[in-house]
Amino acid sequence: MVANAGERIDYRSGKWIVPDRPIIPFIEGDGIGPDIWRAAQRVFDAAVAKVSGGKRRIVWREVLAGEKSFQASGEWLPEATLAVIREHRVAIKGPLTTPVGGGIRSLNVALRQILDLYACIRPVRWFAGVPCPVKEPQKLDVVIFRENIEDVYAGIEFEAGSVKADKLRDFLLDELGVKTIRESSAIGIKPMSKVGSQRLVVKAIQYALDAGRPSVTLVHKGNIMKFTEGAFRDWGYEIAKERFGGKTVTEADGGKGKGEGGKVTVKDRIADAMFQQVLLRPDEYSVLATPNLNGDYLSDACAAQVGGLGMAPGANVGDGFAVFEATHGTAPKYAGQDKVNPGSVILSGAMMFEELGWKDAAQAVVRGIEGAIGAKRVTYDLTRQMPGATEVPSSAFADAIIEHLA
Ligand code: NAP
Repeated sequence: MVANAGERIDYRSGKWIVPDRPIIPFIEGDGIGPDIWRAAQRVFDAAVAKVSGGKRRIVWREVLAGEKSFQASGEWLPEATLAVIREHRVAIKGPLTTPVGGGIRSLNVALRQILDLYACIRPVRWFAGVPCPVKEPQKLDVVIFRENIEDVYAGIEFEAGSVKADKLRDFLLDELGVKTIRESSAIGIKPMSKVGSQRLVVKAIQYALDAGRPSVTLVHKGNIMKFTEGAFRDWGYEIAKERFGGKTVTEADGGKGKGEGGKVTVKDRIADAMFQQVLLRPDEYSVLATPNLNGDYLSDACAAQVGGLGMAPGANVGDGFAVFEATHGTAPKYAGQDKVNPGSVILSGAMMFEELGWKDAAQAVVRGIEGAIGAKRVTYDLTRQMPGATEVPSSAFADAIIEHLA
């Protein structure tokens, strides 16, 4: 059995222990999933072989989820798949169809909750040659750490005019001293905890330190929501001081966000101002740590700014578990045509290598993508905006990436 040729990745004292032949489960994905996965796997194998001289190799292990699984077993997300991912700790996936019909959870949400993948990480940078709406796209190079479990993801809502909403309104007015809530209002509650916020900020700061990035910005709406958004900011500063006191400096204490003295500057911005900042002064930002909803908006806005929504990679990471994924959907109309851009899942693989400490392989993949785009041998989505580019299938885009790994 192929799986026996590899070993498990482990996680001890906050660190990944990665053997030379790690077993990594993958979910191919629905729709265009098989097309992009085929292309991506070749790129990953070539990159690892190239940088390690053949010493390292990934032992891929397919696990089923989504339509492929439903057809095989009648289950969208079998317990066996979760058990394998739990055992091997790190997995990578293509897009999955969201099953239509009652009682079935979104597969992505299920994976996130079951493995407590509390940080959604989205790096956003420009690749030379990719068309985009701003003049100096190269100035934006950020990694967004978005809280992945709380805030609106744990949101509780009561419908306008419902008995529960009216009951809650009465309780808020009569018992909690709330002054006004208009009659027949819908009411939403968003819980944000200290522990949930701080573990996210810790991950962001640790990443900045490991990657040599100069600043971490806490993005919040604390001027309006003091005890949730404002607390996110305060808890962030508190844990930065407590856990990384000697390695961080706040802006208030003179940190300029230029990595002075090897220290990471911790600063904060109000969310609406942040949207202006990434457009007007993008090079002043490096790592962004956000509650769930702010990060949702900001990730897509930043990706759009560099023309990269279609190629944006993502990762959902917890303590000792991580699932890397393409951020686009299954684009069913292109399924089986070897046509679409495999860039998102390929860059997710680069993130996976970086997370596991295989920085050389991550860099090779990024070089390969830069090279293929530079050579203008790209898939249809990029050629339709890149004058003079040659349209190639997914598989040939992978070939071009592999040619440029070195
Ligand atoms: P989608 O699959 O992302 O496709 C929307 C459009 O985006 C496509 O028609 C295509 O645009 C473009 N596109 C997407 N991936 C591309 C790629 N790799 N290369 C080039 N172009 C790409 O969004 P959707 O149609 O809303 O969703 C379809 C299914 O995917 C749904 O079941 C949804 O729930 C699911 N979904 C899953 C995930 C996930 O698993 N993470 C995420 C989002 C959606 P053009 O038509 O302009 O060529």
